[in-house]
Amino acid sequence: MKNASEVVGEIALRGGVPVIKAPFRRYNSLGKEEQVAVQAVMESGVLSQFLGCWHEDFYGGSKVREFEADCARFFGVKHAITVNSWTSGLIAAVGALDIEPGDEIIVTPWTMCASATAILHWNAIPVFADIDPKTFNLDPESVRANITEKTRAIMAVDIFGLSADMQALRALADEFNLKIISDTAQAPGARYGEHYAGTLADIGGYSLNYHKHIHTGEGGVLVTNDDQLAERLKLIRNHAEAVIPGMGERPLNNMLGYNFRLGEIECAIGIEQLKKLPALVASRQRLAERLSAGLRDLTGLTVPFVPDGSTHVYYMYPLLVDDAQTGCSKEHLAEALRAEGVEISTRYQNVHLLPMYQKKMAYGSHGFPWSADFARQDVNYIKGICPVAEDYNDHRYMGFGLCVYDLSEADIDLIITAFRKVWNALVKSA
Ligand SMILES: *Cc1c(COP(=O)(O)O)cnc(C)c1O
Repeated sequence: MKNASEVVGEIALRGGVPVIKAPFRRYNSLGKEEQVAVQAVMESGVLSQFLGCWHEDFYGGSKVREFEADCARFFGVKHAITVNSWTSGLIAAVGALDIEPGDEIIVTPWTMCASATAILHWNAIPVFADIDPKTFNLDPESVRANITEKTRAIMAVDIFGLSADMQALRALADEFNLKIISDTAQAPGARYGEHYAGTLADIGGYSLNYHKHIHTGEGGVLVTNDDQLAERLKLIRNHAEAVIPGMGERPLNNMLGYNFRLGEIECAIGIEQLKKLPALVASRQRLAERLSAGLRDLTGLTVPFVPDGSTHVYYMYPLLVDDAQTGCSKEHLAEALRAEGVEISTRYQNVHLLPMYQKKMAYGSHGFPWSADFARQDVNYIKGICPVAEDYNDHRYMGFGLCVYDLSEADIDLIITAFRKVWNALVKSA
């Protein structure tokens, strides 16, 4: 690896020649295998075989069932249940947990908005706990501090591709009799000890949208080892209220059904995509490790942390900048990196700061469900409740979408060169 002093030339921000001359190509995980699989479904003439009543076809067609069996085997769980998006999966997961209106679910602000919105869909209340400064995942101590008599569940999010601290969260769940939902949208294939991320929650699952590691255009898959939760998830997926009468006596709480069904074509694609997941994850891990090796010694920059016993699948490659050490804001460094051709972002999510939470306006315009009698009246979302997540967004976080591009080792080396050139020019004691 070159030293900073060996990187010569003016930075592109000041008119020099950029290190990366053309944008990186987008990664495309679809190939002949998916084309053949889709063609076979087309020729069968059956694009979906679901029926929204108590009937054998309540569980969907052959590709749905085959993909679900493949997912259950791959992730090592008893049940895998496909849905038409992971947002749908999260809504079904919250509904399946015997949640009452006004119950609280603790969630991280450092996530895609749908993790928290799914809670509101059942008139339950999202309570935001702060993130761990090293992993960006829920900080178990902050979760503990936010538990009230209304808390019923924890929504853990395996953000950027690294599992949350499931051991600590499970200990809290056992102590306070809580359930755990795992939003593992960004971390399919990541390991947590002997298990895959997502499989240690009461209900977990993965997104299959176009931007994720493997995809079916749109889609998602829920995983659980609990037979009763699996049945409730399948009911919410497919018009529960119309199906239950045919099944005999069943609990009716939260059995408001949706149409969250995934089609045969998507599942045929999913079967092929799942086969590619291990190799895809391994290639991203190799690239990320090469990138970390090249950036680790830069002043005031922290490369991704991977706890012992876990693996990271790098949906995002997150970095932290300490501006006291760099003497330069992250925005300025990012601007210089972008000029060199590195598409770096400087913001992630602080979901609690979205206008919906700031104004407490969800259902209608009068503060429902927060204003309802069933809700605790002192839940608040003011800036300051999640100091680490807020500081990271405002001052410290930088992320590179490693999973978006089709990158070679030589491309990674160019990214490293760009960082070193920028650091050499802008950081005081590089
Ligand atoms: C992508 C994503 C979702 C939503 O998944 P969709 O399949 O797009 O509905 C939810 N949570 C997280 C953390 C995500 O990254």
